[in-house]
Amino acid sequence: MSEPSPMTDSDTPAEATGSDPVTQGGASAEAVGPQMSIDVVSIFPEYLAGLQLSLIGKAVDRGQLSLDVHDLRDFTFDRHNTVDDSPYGGGAGMVMKAEPWALALEHILAGRSSAEGEGPESAQSAGPAAGGKPTLIVPSPAGQVFDQRIAEDLAARDHLVFACGRYEGIDQRVIDWAGEHFDLLPMSIGDYVLNGGEVASMVMIEAVSRLIPGVIGNPKSLTEESHEDGLLEYPIYTKPANWRGRDVPEILLSGNHAAIARWRRDRRLERTAEVRPDLLERLDDLSKDDLAALQRFESERSTVTE
Ligand code: SAM
Repeated sequence: MSEPSPMTDSDTPAEATGSDPVTQGGASAEAVGPQMSIDVVSIFPEYLAGLQLSLIGKAVDRGQLSLDVHDLRDFTFDRHNTVDDSPYGGGAGMVMKAEPWALALEHILAGRSSAEGEGPESAQSAGPAAGGKPTLIVPSPAGQVFDQRIAEDLAARDHLVFACGRYEGIDQRVIDWAGEHFDLLPMSIGDYVLNGGEVASMVMIEAVSRLIPGVIGNPKSLTEESHEDGLLEYPIYTKPANWRGRDVPEILLSGNHAAIARWRRDRRLERTAEVRPDLLERLDDLSKDDLAALQRFESERSTVTE
């Protein structure tokens, strides 16, 4: 396979000016660079507009995150902006053609190289040009199943690229080629089939970017969540203390912090045992109190079912 020649901006076709930023980094991004750059390639860039909202949109506005959405059809040159063709070997559906994907990914690589050449300040930043290969996430039901551990791993990287497939998926040759230039991660968001990779990319982008320091106002809220330490979250309540005849558990009104912490831990264990026993099996650091609580729930449950 021949070495690729990432396009420089002057090579870039006029219609492939490339990025349709959902939003661009603000002034502070120019000063220190974003903590993470995310590029998304899709034939439906409008799908990603939802990322402008809420905490992720604010992180982009603050310049902590840069987010660029590229239209794959900008990297085609025929009258119909064709991105798909029939599969070799026959079969139903269409397959996304290799060349538009290669051009789009080369365009992203070229943008990264020019950012790296911008001078000493950008080289020192923790931004997209911090070195190494960017990570290419290819959403696919045939990929590794995405989870909180993978979100944490991705949150520590500086440049993520999402390649949103449609139809039956993308020609394997361009995925193999991309593996030479990117850290390639085919990633599934669960054992079901969607129509395209946009929703899957949004799921992963949201799960990852909320872990970037500063994106969420109160970092403590990240440590007390489902999946953070392998357990599901405890049930939560807010005012009023009595709602339509239903009381908040009394212990939560007691002010006894140690007792509340134990109650919450027990509820997490109980809920996880009920809903996701597979998660419990993976935990090897349960305390004596945890194991005693689990035994208690087990015997309560078997009494109820007898
Ligand atoms: N022919 C593919 C297969 O059987 O594995 C399914 C293609 S699917 C109809 C079209 C696109 O939706 C995929 O290329 C991928 O981008 C996305 N997709 C579908 N299900 C997904 C899932 N569970 N996780 C991540 N992406 C998914």
